[in-house]
Amino acid sequence: MLECIVTKFGGSSLANDEQFRKVRSILELEPTRRYLVPSAPGKRFASDDKVTDLLYACHALAAEGKPIQEPFGMIRERYLSIAQALHLKVDIESALNQVAEGIESGKNRDWCASRGEYLCGLLMADYLGWKFVDAAEGIRFHADGTLDDEKTQELLSALLADGQSAVVPGFYGALENGEVVTFSRGGSDITGALVSRAVNADVYENWTDVSGFLMADPRIVDGPSEISAITYKELRELSHMGASVLHEDAMFPVHQAGIPTNIRNTNKPYHPGTLITKNAPNEVSVPTITGIAGHKGYSVIYVEKNMMNSEVGFGRKVLSVLEEYGISFEHMPTGIDSMCVVVKSELLAPHREEIMARLEEMVRGSGSVAVNDNLSIIATVGRGMVRNCGTAARLFSAMSRARINVRMIDQGSSELSIIVGVNDSDFEATIRAIYHEFVG
Ligand code: ASP
Repeated sequence: MLECIVTKFGGSSLANDEQFRKVRSILELEPTRRYLVPSAPGKRFASDDKVTDLLYACHALAAEGKPIQEPFGMIRERYLSIAQALHLKVDIESALNQVAEGIESGKNRDWCASRGEYLCGLLMADYLGWKFVDAAEGIRFHADGTLDDEKTQELLSALLADGQSAVVPGFYGALENGEVVTFSRGGSDITGALVSRAVNADVYENWTDVSGFLMADPRIVDGPSEISAITYKELRELSHMGASVLHEDAMFPVHQAGIPTNIRNTNKPYHPGTLITKNAPNEVSVPTITGIAGHKGYSVIYVEKNMMNSEVGFGRKVLSVLEEYGISFEHMPTGIDSMCVVVKSELLAPHREEIMARLEEMVRGSGSVAVNDNLSIIATVGRGMVRNCGTAARLFSAMSRARINVRMIDQGSSELSIIVGVNDSDFEATIRAIYHEFVG
């Protein structure tokens, strides 16, 4: 029997009064759903605006001393129409006026953006008859803008200790001096994870407008299968390579605390969605692969040097050059006298010449360096790979049948993923070939 569920609803789930009604009926279906983290109202239709974007626009206008009436009028209308349709009692007009005054009086960009969630939380708390807990009091940031994880856990658990059902707006927190700070875009997911950890939830339900993760990007593979179960480690690999439903940073607090995350669809409340767990579920048959994701636009820096293998510290020297320019590397397959460092081309571009000159200097007279661009990296991820032999053989045979040239291979030491590098022009064909080999 589940005792406590934290729910987070995304912007499209809160776009208008009809969506608010759906949210309430989802909560009524399961009384252990006792905490709710809202995003700001999102798009009602494709060409609509997200409230957060309108708030950023207001801030930009105010910063130039221009009137904010136009975008703020749209924001006002969004909240008032929800409040009126649902007959809410909360004085949202005054709250909206305070926000407008704040923006006009030069409040910082994060404060302005955070008001989308704040106002939405006020409406939702009134609609549900739940307590409103301002995230500025429960989520603490360090002065450098990073999350103060420990303090947040302490503050949030104290604020929610009375066990009363509560609405905690997503996306923001505050510095010790009370100044509001937001997470990066999509950050309400992180708030939901922090609230889940603070109340030691049994499940963190993240309600959105899709029924969970798909095995591959539907723009590349026709009607890909849904992923019903995945571990945090697998998801981390897929998210890093571009599978986006959940904010990457939302996984850490719940993963650490052993709380599963369930991605659910507000518009299909009976669909079980994707369940993300710390340990692999007890499955009768584990699918060999869980998902495929990838990105275009990488460069490979190739360094060759005689007797590289016996020169202690050479790899570190190469990486320290990249470090000096603030470039993180993605992969580093090595040979005896050569190494490749894979980096995002956009990060390399501004410093490319200086970096190459430095590396050339390091191998002068006994080696060479080169850069190759237009590399795509594709990760095929699956906890089932450990148990099934021949996975790599199948994957590479499928690629060879599709006449795709493999430019780089990196099998994760965890046996959780096989990473291949191909020409950007082969990106889509590679994903399709791998998908059809394993899924059909
Ligand atoms: N409203 C914010 C955004 O649009 C945060 C969120 O929705 O999670 O990014």
